[in-house]
Amino acid sequence: MPSQNILSARNICFSYDGSSKALKNVMLDVPRGKKTVFLGPNGSGKSTLFLHFNGILKPDSGKILFDGKRLGYDQSSLVRLRENIAVVFQNPDDQIFSANVEEDIAFGPLNLCLPKEEVDARVDEALSLVGLTKLRKRPTQQLSFGQRKRVALAGALAMKPKVLIMDEPTAGLDTEMVHELLELADELNHLGITIIMSTHDVETAYEWADEVRVISDGKILFAGKPELLFTQSELLHKLGIIPPIAFLLNEQMNKSNGEPIKPYPKSFLELSHKLFAHKKAKDGCFNVICVNKLDNSLEPNVIARMLKINLKEIHKISGVYGTLARRLLNEGKLDVHYRFHALEHGLFQASIGEEFILFTDSSLCTLVETKIKKLERTNGMSIKIRHLHTK
Ligand code: ADP
Ligand code: MG
Repeated sequence: MPSQNILSARNICFSYDGSSKALKNVMLDVPRGKKTVFLGPNGSGKSTLFLHFNGILKPDSGKILFDGKRLGYDQSSLVRLRENIAVVFQNPDDQIFSANVEEDIAFGPLNLCLPKEEVDARVDEALSLVGLTKLRKRPTQQLSFGQRKRVALAGALAMKPKVLIMDEPTAGLDTEMVHELLELADELNHLGITIIMSTHDVETAYEWADEVRVISDGKILFAGKPELLFTQSELLHKLGIIPPIAFLLNEQMNKSNGEPIKPYPKSFLELSHKLFAHKKAKDGCFNVICVNKLDNSLEPNVIARMLKINLKEIHKISGVYGTLARRLLNEGKLDVHYRFHALEHGLFQASIGEEFILFTDSSLCTLVETKIKKLERTNGMSIKIRHLHTK
């Protein structure tokens, strides 16, 4: 049976200069198949630790385990390791070396000596996942910062890793790109990839992560569920972290009104339903349309007829979720108002009696359903779901 933890550090010490230690006796586990967030101030050792996870740095003492086995540092062990663990560096310029986008993404797969067709297919898929298909031939010096970040991510995805490690991936991105990135990470995680990410964003740590690790001055100070971290006020103060507003309001409700503290509301949607009794004027519905089945029978006028909604309204109440749906949007084959944050927004609309239409990939339907069930459990509400299918 595979070990429950896909990566572990056992008493890792590391120094760049032989005197001051960047990592001090680090002990930690990263659970398989989960989303783990590393929080920690600048210079605390997050990047140094991540570079240990794929063998770029070797500990001075202690060991790193992947799948329960100690890492080897000979050439062939490292090649095998990097087939499984991909790190997206904090600064894309440390990662991008090739003259153009396609060559850069192909670099890793070519190093695995894969056949040319397989390399091409992986480059295609990675470009599509990060929404850069149109920039395939673009010289890498002509890319914006956000585009370089996407190329670096595509290079990692083209390795088809079991573990994707992203070092401050949201830093410097605009809001839409941050949402896209978190949605992509959710999608990859749903497909079985373990995700590790460092960030300074406590909201992301609270709402998005399954597990949190806190590192400060080269030491692990906390390992556990995000809601548990935010109860440790002494530790948070020391680290200069303020808990997310959803956490604080929930705590306040508990102290002032005696409301049960659990389940912890994490998103705006969960918080809102815990705070207010929403009156439903009518019965709304969360309509899910699988886009890989998209054909003429799912043109807006057909959808309008099926849902008995005015055609002009369709655009305003529609959104995309997932890379395939987003690709169709970028190709002009879909027209929706909610380009990002659509799942969350749509569930909120349906929960207050409005209609919403979500175009999503069929592989993500179970993820959407899991999120709805969790919401229903957390808030004791019911959301009517309708799946629309082509004939
Ligand atoms: P974080 O990613 O959490 O900001 P880092 O892992 O980059 O932290 O840094 C941890 C410590 O190691 C810091 O004291 C930093 O100055 C030092 N450090 C990081 N990279 C290097 C390097 N290439 N050479 C020397 N010292 C480094
Ligand atoms: Mg760093």
